[in-house]
Amino acid sequence: MNCDARSLLRGELADQFAKWGVPAYRVTQLLDWLYQKRATGWEQMSNLPKSLRERLAAGLSLINLDVVRRQGARDTTQKFLWRLPDGAMVESVLIPANPALYSDASDRQTLCVSTQVGCAYGCKFCASGLDGWKRNLSVEEIVGQILAVERLSESDSSSSSSSSSLSSSEKLNDEEATSTLSARASSRTITNLVFMGMGEPLANYTNLLKALRILNAPWGVGIGARKITISTSGLVPQIRKLADEPEQFRLAISLHGATDEVRNRIMPVNRKYPLAELTAACEYYQERKSKMITLEYILIAGVNDDLDQVAPLANLARRLFAKVNLIPYNAVEGLDWHRPSDDQCLQFADSLKKSGVTATLRLEKGGDIDAACGQLRLKTEKELANQ
Ligand code: SAH
Ligand code: SF4
Repeated sequence: MNCDARSLLRGELADQFAKWGVPAYRVTQLLDWLYQKRATGWEQMSNLPKSLRERLAAGLSLINLDVVRRQGARDTTQKFLWRLPDGAMVESVLIPANPALYSDASDRQTLCVSTQVGCAYGCKFCASGLDGWKRNLSVEEIVGQILAVERLSESDSSSSSSSSSLSSSEKLNDEEATSTLSARASSRTITNLVFMGMGEPLANYTNLLKALRILNAPWGVGIGARKITISTSGLVPQIRKLADEPEQFRLAISLHGATDEVRNRIMPVNRKYPLAELTAACEYYQERKSKMITLEYILIAGVNDDLDQVAPLANLARRLFAKVNLIPYNAVEGLDWHRPSDDQCLQFADSLKKSGVTATLRLEKGGDIDAACGQLRLKTEKELANQ
């Protein structure tokens, strides 16, 4: 099987072009078509010679994600359900600016990205793991989520600027294409990424890292490493490995319990990597990436919302210089876990803040669009199965 154009780093493409005797500036043109103009087919790349396009088409694939469902309005959270080339489904969620989360700018849009079909880690509260793990996403399927969302958002607003539509850029000469590229590069729809969609990103480490490099590179999508957050349920060896990578990616730990007793009850991964090991790996990360860790803590009624959990949680957060995101549990059909009352959530947050920890609490519900990751896919698959 051919590898995909969107799975290759600039250097890899340059090597291939050199072998073909194609001049290096053609690599820049190709990357421009892939990541700035977000082309969906070789034939659109009008400033590449036909012979090169034919060669590329014969040697590389160029997959596109099909959107099966799209929910939500332009200025609210939008969910995209994708069908991948083999028919598997994953989702991405576009979240408009929320200053309480991950960063501070208010004009940003964050995309929540999936990294696997299903999940092998089987956290007891989560929809993504309900049907087990199917497969890892490829590099191009990870990168493709960002490009496809941008393409769809762009076609929403294509009437506002003719220079941003693909059909007009097809007619541009090299010089014009370059100026369009610089205009567009500064106005990407997506400014931040969180790897909190379906799957455990660190269990798909190799593809994740390559996708991250394409998303981060100035020749690629160009999103700064500090605007990219990778969420993990606590894969200790991979956290250490990520700490040794040169980039300053942010790390979110799905903690959900500040003691082994609570974590063992809801997250099987804790039996393999108990809190002491997880904390040590996070300290290692923190030493190398200073203040880049967030602790995610879903509040589940009667499981981890008792105020006696605040002290161990605060200790951990202080030790890691981490802030804490408190998220009231989002009900999953078929699972018997519940969200605590707003009052209980507020008391928990208050008490945590009084212990000197930076904490945020999102009380607004995920709304009608199945906001917790994995839920839209599950629902659609059930509906399709019942047809
Ligand atoms: N596997 C990774 C990333 C994907 S899960 C991880 O676990 O970190 C993304 C986040 O959604 C995790 O923090 C997860 O615990 C949380 N989550 C899963 N089910 C949820 C639910 N029903 N309500 C609220 N958050 C949920
Ligand atoms: Fe997998 Fe994360 Fe869901 Fe756990 S919370 S089952 S690791 S996706």
